[in-house]
Amino acid sequence: MKVLSKAKLQTALNKLNAHNEVFVPLQRGSQSGYFSWSSFDDGRDQLMLEALNVYQSPKNVVLPQTEKMYGIKSQGMEVNIDQTFEDAHPTIIFGARGCDVKGIIAMDEVFLTRGYEDSFYKARRSANTIIANACYAPGANCFCNAMEVDPLDPAGADVIIRDAGTDYIWEAKTAQGEAITASIADLLEEKEVKLPEAKPFTQQVDFSGVAEKLKDMFEHPLWDQMAQPCINCGMCTYVCPSCYCFDIQVKMWGDHGYRFRAWDSCMFEEYSREAGGGNPRGAAKERFRQRFLHKLEFFKERYGTPLCTGCGRCIIVCPTDVNIVRIIAAVKEAELNA
Ligand code: SF4
Ligand code: SF4
Repeated sequence: MKVLSKAKLQTALNKLNAHNEVFVPLQRGSQSGYFSWSSFDDGRDQLMLEALNVYQSPKNVVLPQTEKMYGIKSQGMEVNIDQTFEDAHPTIIFGARGCDVKGIIAMDEVFLTRGYEDSFYKARRSANTIIANACYAPGANCFCNAMEVDPLDPAGADVIIRDAGTDYIWEAKTAQGEAITASIADLLEEKEVKLPEAKPFTQQVDFSGVAEKLKDMFEHPLWDQMAQPCINCGMCTYVCPSCYCFDIQVKMWGDHGYRFRAWDSCMFEEYSREAGGGNPRGAAKERFRQRFLHKLEFFKERYGTPLCTGCGRCIIVCPTDVNIVRIIAAVKEAELNA
């Protein structure tokens, strides 16, 4: 098998970074997320490949939190696009866990399939390679195994690395992964090392039948009870690796400016407010219900898989202890026609 000695990891990252912008999980002060390896500062940053999940997922690599789209110029009543800012510079996400890989694969479905193609997403994603870090010791809030993710062999990765003590086992899974592997071939060795032992999940989640049952629960009183603690702060949506709602806004100086998009949240009242003033999800409960139905029912109906990847981040960050695992259990136990 191919291995990369951990002693050569930084050399490998430097080498990969010469032709791609490599994003790695870092602890940077009080923040943790995927940052460009070019910005790594030994005195300030800590590489977090051994940690389970950093606070922010790598979704910002393919769907930046703020993204310039078009340059525009107005002449009287006419507005013309004079520039398009599609960004196709090559990127590598290095060390994503299976849950975060699934988040990107889910966004691929939304932005690239069913006759809809988002050219901005497409530009970034087509120049993006994913090097996944197989997960052998799930954390206390992890439940990806219940959400159709294989943490040991995540679907959608171009390369999978496995932490084997002093080495990473290195396995290319796609032609793109083979090309990246070839670019650091001089740093890889052929060596037999022992695979890490997979530890059991501490949290048991049974998602079977939940999506189907939710079809009959739109008006169920359970939503009043479950939504009650939620303050609609939106934190769960910002840290979620598969939430992709955005808003498009415009910035003008005189007759020229640009359009940009920025992450938004279905938990915010303004998100669903219509130009005429109406709002189909004006009440906090309606927005809460939308988020969980989208994650657990609607996306599965449309794309065949839940939109939750079981990363557990929303459980950790929620200031009012809303817990998607408890919601799944409550739906399982709920009586219909209650
Ligand atoms: S983090 Fe918690 S309180 Fe905030 S919007 Fe999400 S569920 Fe509601
Ligand atoms: S809904 Fe929560 S557990 Fe599921 S993928 Fe999003 S942040 Fe992770």
